[in-house]
Amino acid sequence: MAMLAGAMAALAIAGAVQASDGGAAIATHVNAAQALAGSDLRTPLFLCRADSGQVVRDYLQIGSKLWLEPTWAFDNLAYVGNGFVGVWVLRTSEGLILFDSLTSPEEAEHRLVPGLVKLGLKPADIRYVIVTHGHWDHFGGAAWLQKTYGARVGLSAADWKMIEDTPTQAMEINGRAIPRRDLVIEDGQKLTLGDATISFYVTPGHTPGTVSAIIPARQGDRTYVMSLLGSTAFPPGLEPTDRYGGVRLYDQSVRRFSRLSREAGAVGLLNTHMFADGGLDRLDALQTAAPGAANPFLIGADAVNRYYGILDECLQAAVVRLEAAPK
Ligand SMILES: [Zn+2]
Repeated sequence: MAMLAGAMAALAIAGAVQASDGGAAIATHVNAAQALAGSDLRTPLFLCRADSGQVVRDYLQIGSKLWLEPTWAFDNLAYVGNGFVGVWVLRTSEGLILFDSLTSPEEAEHRLVPGLVKLGLKPADIRYVIVTHGHWDHFGGAAWLQKTYGARVGLSAADWKMIEDTPTQAMEINGRAIPRRDLVIEDGQKLTLGDATISFYVTPGHTPGTVSAIIPARQGDRTYVMSLLGSTAFPPGLEPTDRYGGVRLYDQSVRRFSRLSREAGAVGLLNTHMFADGGLDRLDALQTAAPGAANPFLIGADAVNRYYGILDECLQAAVVRLEAAPK
């Protein structure tokens, strides 16, 4: 784990943002993001770079080969995945809810399932697979989990359409399969399974129908509200297309989900791309935390708010860049 964090930290340093790239309007947003980041939220600042998409691809290259030890972050919430992408697993009194499903049937079978077993969980207890958005690294294992365990799979209507429109040549890699249309997640919908209730919001931007969630994390006799934004990288254009939500809409979604998270009392962040929100460092800190020490995932309401503020400022910088780009 420490080695992974080291490799990823090296990337983050290589990717340090320069306020001087771009004009004054961009510098204003980048400086604001840096001020919000303070010393504790540096990781998401890469999103302020003009080449943040390339930074994500660099993380994909390094992080996706580094599989992490499956880890409980809370009594009811565990991470199974690699340094690029993974699955948050919520254990309830009536079975498991998964957020995302890894990249392929192969990874679901040979990475996710053994990971669950290592955590002491039964894969047959998977009841729901909530797919944050219609990209392979999030829904690739869902069809296999649906077929193997009868898990219910949920996406927003827009992202169901997006995956169902996948060109056939993209399907011919590694036995890829698209899940059968099942739950259509709507904005504001709640899902209760046993002792846990989750609230979903449709937050378009990265894709036309990205789903974000407010999730209860339990530790001992206390429950904490966690805010899971269903996306990371910025889309390539200002306005929505069939495959993207557009940067302007992404910014509106981030501001709205920030407010909803605040109103819900969120005191921590979750993301299935753990490299992007500082989650990898928190997992790392968890490994070395003394018994009884504060959980590093409980960053507090102010830090959750600042995180979304950083995304907002970096999205505004991205809008300025795209507006200035030659058409
Ligand atoms: Zn994506």
